[in-house]
Amino acid sequence: MSSESKTVNPSHPLAQRLRIVLVGTQHPGNMGSAARAMKTMGLIRLVLVAPEKAPNAESYALAAGADDVLGEARTCETLAEAVADCRLVLGCTARSRRVQLEELMPRDAAARSVAQAAGGSEVALVFGRERTGLTNDELQLCHASVHIPANPDYSSLNLAAAVQVLSYELRLALLQAGSDGAEPAGSDDPRDLPASHEQMEGFFAQLAETLDAIDFHKGRAPDSAMRKLRRLYLRAGLDAREVRILRGILADTQRMAMLAGSKR
Ligand code: SAH
Repeated sequence: MSSESKTVNPSHPLAQRLRIVLVGTQHPGNMGSAARAMKTMGLIRLVLVAPEKAPNAESYALAAGADDVLGEARTCETLAEAVADCRLVLGCTARSRRVQLEELMPRDAAARSVAQAAGGSEVALVFGRERTGLTNDELQLCHASVHIPANPDYSSLNLAAAVQVLSYELRLALLQAGSDGAEPAGSDDPRDLPASHEQMEGFFAQLAETLDAIDFHKGRAPDSAMRKLRRLYLRAGLDAREVRILRGILADTQRMAMLAGSKR
């Protein structure tokens, strides 16, 4: 962060834990406009997932004074990589999807994000492509979706405009949380925090293997059951200890399934 941004546009300390993730952005200008939208609200961490084109002169022109936010943006190949260390991941959607995630209003999403950040968690707000939004697979990585309650007949905002609305709500929630100068509080023990995206994905991979090992699906496609199970466990907000217990149960289940298989 430049010294100018510290004096003119001070960020709340918790802003360090809030990241805006843009997936597959198609128009380079939108990355600049999104950076500007963020910086006006004191947000500083931008992550670009596989943008169609790298930020270019048009991006920087539209970023205006937020070229520091754009310049420091991290680029990742996948959404999973961008949110691996996040303990809350919210996907912003212009319309309801089949995935049927819990759907939050922007204000509630911001309140939840700031509360989690205050507890020591990294938080991501994820935005999709201009033409097609987020895929169902990408939404499945999220704990909940966020919908700006726009005109139902014309509900799709420009990408950077959507980032502006969510950034503003985050700003309000941060201001309400108060103590602009305070350092973020955090648990001393990361096991007390909600499990990270990476820990949850490790659990889901083992769950899928275990269900196969006990022939749970009986020839049916596993996708529908896995989608429902993902939703259930993501909604539960497990901490790292709880994930360890569940993985222990799965490991024993896998072991017993193998023993049963070898006896047959
Ligand atoms: N045609 C796309 C719209 C993409 S707009 C679709 O139907 O999904 C680009 C991105 O801006 C979206 O992926 C979403 O992250 C965000 N966005 C646009 N309008 C929104 C709204 N009303 N609520 C929440 N996010 C929105």
